[in-house]
Amino acid sequence: MNNAKLAAKLNPLHQSLVQISDNVTFGSEEIIIIGGPCAVESYEQMEIVAEKLHSSPVKALRGGVYKPRTSPYAFQGMGEAGLKVLAAVRDKYNLPVVTEVMAISQIEVILASADMLQVGSRNMQNFDLLKELGGINKPILLKRGLAATIEEFVMAAEYILSHGNSNVVLCERGIRSFDNYTRNVLDLGAVAALKQITHLPVIVDPSHAAGRRELIAPLSKAAVACGADGLIIECHPVPEKSVSDAQQALSLEEMIDLVHTLEPVAAAVGRKISTNTKGVDRKSTPLHLAIA
Ligand code: PEP
Ligand code: MN
Repeated sequence: MNNAKLAAKLNPLHQSLVQISDNVTFGSEEIIIIGGPCAVESYEQMEIVAEKLHSSPVKALRGGVYKPRTSPYAFQGMGEAGLKVLAAVRDKYNLPVVTEVMAISQIEVILASADMLQVGSRNMQNFDLLKELGGINKPILLKRGLAATIEEFVMAAEYILSHGNSNVVLCERGIRSFDNYTRNVLDLGAVAALKQITHLPVIVDPSHAAGRRELIAPLSKAAVACGADGLIIECHPVPEKSVSDAQQALSLEEMIDLVHTLEPVAAAVGRKISTNTKGVDRKSTPLHLAIA
């Protein structure tokens, strides 16, 4: 990894912390769990998700409003109306939110509603987007490309870092292979390698890796055991009704159960799953104003 200048780990203790809100920081002893649906579908949906998860160890919400869909005829996301939903639940439940940015033109409006901007797999080497994200002062969640090598992944992070944004979290989300039983192959070897090569926090997305809800729990445990700094997991109030990625969505109850089963695994590798939850901040904007 000769070309990585800014992402390279300089000594075994070199570890960056990436803070997305007052009490959510990636890269510390604490394993950060992000939960939520594939796509924001309505205020009511996100309200149920946040209401259930805010008192659990899930520390941040996910939900796509600009969706990179294989088919142009599939639901493309709620767009700006979805951002208003995210901002409203964030304020009401004091949970930071992560959402995907697909284009430079979306950055400004997303910055107003999200605490972390996700670069999806399909955009990992969209170098103009990466350069632009290097110029903002919000953390970036960079997902590994569908068929990107570890070196290409690190160099994509290097684009953001070298343009001035040092708050980058890497996300392994599975890579393409020959088997189609799982959606992708979760490359935990890459997680171990990235933790050795770079000082950036590394999290795992078992949902897009497996594509099957029954595999999410064991893969999450394996990810924590091999040194991941966090997880991003899809869950939905009525999983089979998800407008996208229904087969991989957990119910909210399954999500909470899963997080608790990770506690002994985290403890075994000297980490912990957060249990502290800040009180709900009910300075909420009335719904009709929030999504107007
Ligand atoms: C997502 O997290 O919603 C997503 C589309 O993931 P990926 O870019 O990893 O496919
Ligand atoms: Mn999805």
